[in-house]
Amino acid sequence: MKFWKGIFWGAFVISAGVLFAADSLYVPFGKPGYLTSSFGENRGTRYHAGVDYSTDMQEGFPSIAPEDGKIVQVKVSPYAYGKVIYFEDKLGRTWVFAHQSGFSKHLDSLVRATQKKTKKNDVSIENPRIPAFRKGDTLSYTGSSGIGNPHLHLELRSGAHILNPCHYGTLCGDSLDPLILGAAVFQGEDVSISGEEDLKSGCLEVPDIRNREDPLRFAFKIADYSREPLENPMSVRRVTLKSKSRPIGEIIKDTLNFASMLKIREELLWAEEADTAGDWHYIPNPYKLTIGDTLTFETEDMTRRVSKRNFTLQEKCDGPKPLMYGKFQNPEMFSFLSRTWIGLHLCKDDSLKTEFSFFGKGKPIFDSEDNVLNPCEYFLAKPTPLGKILSQFPDLDEIRLTQKGKTDTIRVAEIPADAKEFSWETELNGKKISQNVTALEDVPWTRALAVRKLANDSVPAYEFHPKGLHFLGSWLVSFDTQIANAPLYYLGETSRRWFYFSKQNKTKRTRFTSMNELRDIGFIQDNTAPELGSPYLDSAVIAGKTAPVLRIPVIEKESGIENGNAIQASAKGKPYIYAEYDSEPKELVFILSDLPEAGRKFQIRLQDEAGNAKNFEIVVPGGSSAK
Ligand SMILES: [Zn+2]
Repeated sequence: MKFWKGIFWGAFVISAGVLFAADSLYVPFGKPGYLTSSFGENRGTRYHAGVDYSTDMQEGFPSIAPEDGKIVQVKVSPYAYGKVIYFEDKLGRTWVFAHQSGFSKHLDSLVRATQKKTKKNDVSIENPRIPAFRKGDTLSYTGSSGIGNPHLHLELRSGAHILNPCHYGTLCGDSLDPLILGAAVFQGEDVSISGEEDLKSGCLEVPDIRNREDPLRFAFKIADYSREPLENPMSVRRVTLKSKSRPIGEIIKDTLNFASMLKIREELLWAEEADTAGDWHYIPNPYKLTIGDTLTFETEDMTRRVSKRNFTLQEKCDGPKPLMYGKFQNPEMFSFLSRTWIGLHLCKDDSLKTEFSFFGKGKPIFDSEDNVLNPCEYFLAKPTPLGKILSQFPDLDEIRLTQKGKTDTIRVAEIPADAKEFSWETELNGKKISQNVTALEDVPWTRALAVRKLANDSVPAYEFHPKGLHFLGSWLVSFDTQIANAPLYYLGETSRRWFYFSKQNKTKRTRFTSMNELRDIGFIQDNTAPELGSPYLDSAVIAGKTAPVLRIPVIEKESGIENGNAIQASAKGKPYIYAEYDSEPKELVFILSDLPEAGRKFQIRLQDEAGNAKNFEIVVPGGSSAK
């Protein structure tokens, strides 16, 4: 600890000196680490409940007791928090240390004994009988178990509340101010976007500056980085918008609670843009347009660094705009700012030659002059929110788009303005897809759902929009078994891989699942058991010390491994051998000293989530030359 303190003292004082006397700060893993994720960050269906520190891609730093206290729970799993401890301090608060590589001596022995006794790799022990800890003691060791690269996830809980450790005497390294990357102004059914340069030059674009009836609402796109290079975009503590004369709206995230984790759908708007970082923070308070008024937007990061912009409302800003859809979204229909958009700009794209036509109950939609509606002309060949289209053509239930001679169908439905719940049954190619969404929140624009068959993927699948719809309940989707003739999988947003729904049901007529986030859904028949690659010797940090291990790659394309207990390893005379499943990269890790000697065999049985299992016989490699 002393060693690191000497070297990093400079950074230590700069990043934290404003708030606390540097030498009184708690340093969670003995060296001043930089944040890679902040408190309250968007994690799809919930907030990030703690802070993540970079451990410079290394493992095995001691996780230090912040106060006198005791460990009240320890868990081992290949997913989520991986190896994790829950430490209760003398004030009754719980500190969570996740993704550990191992535990301090007494705890390590207890975990290993429990695994051996229960013949399970995944264990959870409450109130382990081990001695209490003093402030500064080593509780466990940092690692990369569960999800992610080596890093420390630190969380602070007090009763039902989750606190920001950076505000409770913990050193949080962050040497950069937050970036304000874009803004969206909502007015009626319209949205206008301003980019980073627009905001820097003091310009904020309004959809219709002459419209004084519809109040404006705002969203700002922000990313906070802790250091160069800008690798891990984080969320911020506070956003504030005020006009010259009065405050407009403010959101502060100092504490969270588990019950309101879903509020994220209200505060952060869903947007998948072309690899650009940052979250869209929605400020729901209405603002009445006043010409000549100066607005000030301010945002503050977790270590209280503030960025600020002043701007006036303009009819048009000339700077480049953030993209509306990313490389993983189809431009014909996409989710942006938690709304469904139709890519009517594609009519102008000569290479795609896209034509859109609108139908209601199978009949073409007409314009006010009784001509068949030309959507591109009518909406000026711009990407248009589906809600805006429906507010003008309420009979619309089907959009047909023709590209290169091929016609595709998008089914759409408007959610009634005051509905708290919405059920929708639609037919695509004669097969039924039903949806039911509960606990819908009010928003001041028309809400609309859309579904389309996903054409350009190897898996038969459907695309649902909008992602990030404002609901706090559940979303049930059921498919006619004729189309969903295999188990349901969802498409990962960033990884673009298919993941098995662990909770799904099948009746004679339908196959269905309930979720708390809209996703694209596909159907995969997985009859293949997982395979193993070639075993190789390596080393890993085990309980703070480097030890030889045997690693075996797992080859499993579809369902994945459900948990650590899906692996059973044994050898003659050893009915149970501890095996760890590392989900990134997918491999099994054995502590070499647990295995029979080199040249001898041991057995592995591996089962995937779909229930396919296979037995393997592995010869322990190496010999005298083994590490
Ligand atoms: Zn984390």
